[in-house]
Amino acid sequence: MTPIPLVHASLGERELAAVAQVFASGWPAGQGPRGKALEADLVARYGVGGAVAVSNCGAALHLALLALRVQPGDEVIVADYTFPAPAHAVRYVGAQPVFADVRADTGTIDPQAVADLVGPRTVGVIAVDTVGLPADYAELTALTERHGLFLVEDAACAVGATYRGREAGALAPVACLSFHGRKGATSGEGGALLATDPLLAADARLRSSFGIGSIFDQAQIVGLPIPEFTEIGYNYKLSDIAAAILQVQLSRVDELLARRVAVAARYAELLADEPLLTLPHVPDDRTHAWQTFMVTLDSTVDRAAVATALRAQGIGSGHGTWATHLQPVFETKQSCPVSADLFARNLAIPMHAELELDQVERVATALRSALRANARPLASRGGAA
Ligand SMILES: *Cc1c(COP(=O)(O)O)cnc(C)c1O
Repeated sequence: MTPIPLVHASLGERELAAVAQVFASGWPAGQGPRGKALEADLVARYGVGGAVAVSNCGAALHLALLALRVQPGDEVIVADYTFPAPAHAVRYVGAQPVFADVRADTGTIDPQAVADLVGPRTVGVIAVDTVGLPADYAELTALTERHGLFLVEDAACAVGATYRGREAGALAPVACLSFHGRKGATSGEGGALLATDPLLAADARLRSSFGIGSIFDQAQIVGLPIPEFTEIGYNYKLSDIAAAILQVQLSRVDELLARRVAVAARYAELLADEPLLTLPHVPDDRTHAWQTFMVTLDSTVDRAAVATALRAQGIGSGHGTWATHLQPVFETKQSCPVSADLFARNLAIPMHAELELDQVERVATALRSALRANARPLASRGGAA
């Protein structure tokens, strides 16, 4: 039986050819011709005021908070149920993450939870498009505008998703994308910051290069101008090698997403009547990028045993994502019961653009029997009458 991995990056000959061009160009570092071309592609695709190609989404979030002038002592409300990069970024700038619980049906940040957490020190909100499903931006936009807060969209997993007909990545004034190897479009590692305000993007771009700007550009100037360092920046540049790969990947988003959508639809058919799990819910006003296909197991199921049983058949799986507030580093007394419950019961099953439909069937069959074999019988369910 051939193994069925949880994830697989769709990188091929076209990406290799793009890399070969960069090698021949003599400029493999960042903020060169390919990086600029990628940024132009991102501006065109998302219709934003500016795009900055960076080394990863964590860097994009950090630069976003710097450009938004978040200060030590400020509070930023973050979606709890996610890869915890938003809360990390808040801590990078010495501010305090405040964890907002999520909707039980979608796992996305609950606008009511955000409303309840706004206080005198709140400066903004980071919403997350949870494993590729956009959050409730109509409500979040109204709420943040009413309170004068910034809104950042962490669209790390959501390239290709939509909300009310608009692209994820363009649903808030500032958005961050990831091009990590486990996301829908990838250069191995990579990210981008998208902003409505071109000045905000320019601020982020400058700080992504030690505050000195594009060395490639400076090399074009005749004479010997010596730029000065006027602030502490970082090296968060994306290499032109990665930028070239991403230009190809972005041109393939529709094709790759169509295959993920077909996989998700087949899982939904095959597992619709399975009582021991809940399928992902996609509200009518949005579409999913399917970075992960995450099911929620019944509380009677031994999740680790299911993962072990799948592994024995060569099928990859994983816990879906994290409840951030439960991570020891954040030492919070807050509780987010919905997020904690999802974190305890979620299971990610294979999802990538190269899964064949017969493999999807194999996964569904194996999952069903693993659930049967690893659920406590009804009689022993805690509290059963
Ligand atoms: C993957 C992910 C990140 C981190 O992306 P990197 O490019 O690896 O830094 C941030 N936020 C969310 C929601 C993610 O899923």
